[in-house]
This record gives sequence, structure tokens and C-alpha cells, in this order.
Amino acid sequence: MTFSPLFAQADVDALAHAIASAKRVVITCHVSPDGDAIGSLLATTRWLRAKGCTATPITPNHFPEFLHWLPGADEIVVADRNPDLAQRHIAEADLVFCLDFNEPQRCDNLAAPIWNTAATKVLIDHHLHPTNDFNLVFSRPELCATCELLLRLMVEMDNAAHLDHDTATCLYTGMMTDTGAFTYASTRPDVYRAVARLLEAGIDKDKIYRNVFHTYSVDRFRLMGFMLYVKMQPYPDFRTSLMTLTREERRLFASRNGDTEGFVNLPLQIAGTRLSIFLREDTEKPGQIRVSLRSVDDFPCNRMAADFFNGGGHLNAAGGKLHCTMDEAVATAERAMHAYSHLLKD
Ligand code: 5GP
Ligand code: MN
Repeated sequence: MTFSPLFAQADVDALAHAIASAKRVVITCHVSPDGDAIGSLLATTRWLRAKGCTATPITPNHFPEFLHWLPGADEIVVADRNPDLAQRHIAEADLVFCLDFNEPQRCDNLAAPIWNTAATKVLIDHHLHPTNDFNLVFSRPELCATCELLLRLMVEMDNAAHLDHDTATCLYTGMMTDTGAFTYASTRPDVYRAVARLLEAGIDKDKIYRNVFHTYSVDRFRLMGFMLYVKMQPYPDFRTSLMTLTREERRLFASRNGDTEGFVNLPLQIAGTRLSIFLREDTEKPGQIRVSLRSVDDFPCNRMAADFFNGGGHLNAAGGKLHCTMDEAVATAERAMHAYSHLLKD
């Protein structure tokens, strides 16, 4: 199977050279990592080790339970839990891979240590408008996932010679989670060519699906029911649905950051819904409200996130944060709906 090249040969060569001459490599991703961040983090780690590098995967903070089964996940250094170890690895690295984010502040507590070193920073990402803080940039916003981009980079650099079962499993996990199991952001035929390549590497895609999506605890499953039954507020005039979740409510269901993943997608299943907004109080940062937006068709979540929620993202999936009370956050969301009503109404 062939793909047309995505990257300039000079960039691929420059990266191959950086990898070949690197002594210690750190691989990192955005704060509150999702399946694409962790999938690409672990796949890159395996790839670089297969090429002979000493490679350490580091996340800014903890990653969700439903990704802990991924091969190599137990080796990830979680920086906010193990700051000294993370800082030491970063200080010693001569090459840093930045995965699934487009600006330093998205890796939170790691931004300062990473950008204080002279290490070469390589960006591998699919978000719009990367900043110019990176030395080598592999950015393709049209791709469905950083994991898809990484597979293409592997193909272009070494014909994916090191694409073993475990690496393919990590890559598939990222593509599957960033596309809602191939229900959005995945209309390009190349997505399925990439999936075919991963199937050829021996992945068990049905098992990966179950491992990621069928892992609810009883608490989390009941929380989902509570959100839909008690907390979901439809705004039919705006074809929008709004859900909120406070720290107090989270405590009742033993919920913490990351384990509400996917909830924001649910209201899109209501006929006619164009936009879903989910506001939840951060369990780690008191006073912070995390915002998730999901839409269908051409409603620009990323523009709304930038205009109202100090964030950004993709057309149909974006996020941000607010520092205010939940009531104020709801008022902000309602203002956002009004401001975008021309795109939400018929
Ligand atoms: P989620 O709703 O899953 O937290 O985030 C969806 C997408 O929105 C992410 O893949 C990311 O692209 C973007 N995103 C989430 N939070 C932020 C944020 O605080 N700032 C920016 N720029 N983008 C965000
Ligand atoms: Mn991604």
C-alpha cells in the first residue's frame, strides 16, 4: 500500500539526522492527555528505542485509567507526581518530541523546563497554527490524529520498519479516540489506508475498542446517567445542549479529571443537536472550570472556544478553561450561544 508523501524530504532527513545523533530523548504531550496524546507518546517512544535511542515518555499530569493498559504506559513519568525525575530527564535530553499540541503552554508545568534547555524541539501535531517555538515542525491539521501523522512519518522515514504489534496498537488507539471510533474527522480515504496498515501489523481493533470504551466503573456509569438525567440542559432554540458538573457532584461519584471523557459527545445523539457544551470544575485546580465543545457539520467549536473560553482546538472538537463560578460559566456559555445563534439556528 502506498501513501503520497506528506512531508518535505529535507524535513524527514533532518529529523532522521536528529534522531541518529541524539543521546537522550524526551517525549511529551499536552496536559490532561487523551488517547491520541498517550498513543502517540508511547508509539514514538517505542519507535525511537527501536532506532537505538534512550527515550523517556513524560506527561505533564496523570492520564485516564482507560489508557493504562496500553503497552509501555507503566513507564510514563508523570511530571506533577514525580517532578524531580521529570526535570532531570528533561535537563539531560538533547532532543524533545512534542506531541499532539501546538504551543508550549499546552504542556503546562513542562513548558518552562523544556524551553529552558537547548534541546532540539520536534513538533508532531495536527492542531491548527503551531507557534514558532519548535525547531522541526511536522504539523498537518487535516489529519485525524497525531497518531495518523506519526504513522505517515514512520512510513516516510524508514518505511515503518519498526511498526510492530504494540506500536500499531498505540497508533490505532490515538486514531480511534480522536475520531470517536471513526464517526467524525475521519472522512479521508487515507484514514482507512492507515488503519489497514495497522491491521496488517496485527492489531486487534475490536479488543482495543473494548479496552478503551468498555471500561466504565460502576461510579462512572452512574455519573453518566446522572449527567444525562439530571444535569443536561437542552436549549432547543440554539440546537445546543449544556451540561455542568461541580466538584461536589464529582465527589459523589469519585470522579476526577479525565474520567468524564466522552460525556460531551452524548447530547449530539439527540436529533437536530448541533452543539454540545460541557462545563466541569477541575478536580486538581480549584477555581478552574474546564470546557469541552463538540459540534456537527461546520459549526466552529474552535472559534467559539477562542472567543469565549480561552481555548481552541478543532472545528468539531475544542476546549478551554474559565476561572469563575459555575453560574458565571453558564452565563458565558449562554452568551456564546447567542453570539453564534446565526450558525446554530436554521
Ligand atoms: P477536550 O474537550 O477533549 O478536552 O478537548 C478537545 C480538543 O480541544 C483538544 O483536542 C484540543 O485540541 C482542544 N483543547 C482543549 N482544551 C484546550 C485549551 O485549553 N486550549 C486550547 N488551545 N485547546 C484546547
Ligand atoms: Mn489529537
